[in-house]
Amino acid sequence: MERWFRWDPSLDQLRVRRARVLHYLQAGPRVRPEVEEAVGEAGAAVRRLSQPRGGLARCALRTVEEGWVSLDGGDPFPLEDGYREGARQAVVLLATLGEGIQRESTLRFKRGEYLESLALDAVGSALVDELAAHLYRQAGALVAAEGLVPGYLLSPGCPQLLPEVQANLMREVPAQELGVYLNDSGYLVPTKSLCALVPLLEGGRRRGSRAACGRCPQRERCFPPAEARS
Ligand code: SF4
Repeated sequence: MERWFRWDPSLDQLRVRRARVLHYLQAGPRVRPEVEEAVGEAGAAVRRLSQPRGGLARCALRTVEEGWVSLDGGDPFPLEDGYREGARQAVVLLATLGEGIQRESTLRFKRGEYLESLALDAVGSALVDELAAHLYRQAGALVAAEGLVPGYLLSPGCPQLLPEVQANLMREVPAQELGVYLNDSGYLVPTKSLCALVPLLEGGRRRGSRAACGRCPQRERCFPPAEARS
């Protein structure tokens, strides 16, 4: 795998998962008809408004001291050993859908179309997750010949990775090439973007279990899925 791998998938390669959309709407599997209708409309709109792009940067993951690591010798940050499993390399994954969804969602909100705005936002979040999942699988395919497997996808929303680490990750990727940047508050712009750390585990398999994951509210939407987590 090269230091930087860029991938611009077609929308046909990405499928919005209803369960993820409902997760973002904080709704159960049964929703009112008007919500169902708004989600259906948002599913069509999101395809018109999205420009999916993504990439993977490979870097060295070094131990600075116990429980602290750095990427390519940059600023150290905490990462529990159990979430790294001895990995000495990692990929930083960057995925974005562009600005169209956020722009339209804001317009809808300003027009008082609150449900339509929320539905579009939720479908966009589910689609960027799907794009990240594709990139995660791409990473696995690119390093398999070296006996490496991708470990957890740790985004700064994960309780194991401080929000400030987003800046460390962004330094590793040519984010401008994908039109993504960090604003003054440390958030990714466009908002329908995701930047994450994936340790590359040696020996071809994941080991151990991570106690904190069992208590994590994001467990259901974390990668790899729950069944591959122990
Ligand atoms: S389940 Fe939670 S704590 Fe565990 S890796 Fe996923 S986001 Fe992080």
